[in-house]
Amino acid sequence: MERTFIAIKPDGVQRGLIAEIISRFERKGFKLVAIKLVVPSKEFAQKHYHDLKERPFFNGLCEFLSSGPVLAMVWEGEGVIKYGRKLIGATDPQKSEPGTIRGDLAVVVGRNIIHGSDGPETAKDEINLWFKPQELV
Ligand code: ATP
Ligand code: MG
Repeated sequence: MERTFIAIKPDGVQRGLIAEIISRFERKGFKLVAIKLVVPSKEFAQKHYHDLKERPFFNGLCEFLSSGPVLAMVWEGEGVIKYGRKLIGATDPQKSEPGTIRGDLAVVVGRNIIHGSDGPETAKDEINLWFKPQELV
């Protein structure tokens, strides 16, 4: 069954949005198969966002991801990669539709509270980066 990597970033954890976000994925019908709270190192954040290393905001983004607890999760279900991104909404919360997580709960792109894998390959890589096989149920 299809799986994706979802992370609540430090701003989402700090703002107390864990239950709200998990409940949206649960109510949709997706299944939680792994979950843990971690403070990633900056080096780890750079690995996670390696595709963006040429972007001007890369350093700030990695600093931010490693600034506090992140809730790392794996969710499973038919179409979960694409539909998970739909639940999350557009990257820039100014452009995310109301009804999406970023649309309802965030204001600026540098504090958009949640990450979701953008395709099957990245989902596989990100799950392997963040979790050991025995951490998945
Ligand atoms: P994510 O990978 O976190 O799920 P995304 O796939 O919607 O987000 P990406 O293009 O992968 O968007 O960008 C990764 C993250 O980098 C964004 O979630 C955002 O926090 C940050 N980011 C993207 N564009 C900008 C920007 N122009 N300025 C500052 N931060 C940005
Ligand atoms: Mg992305």
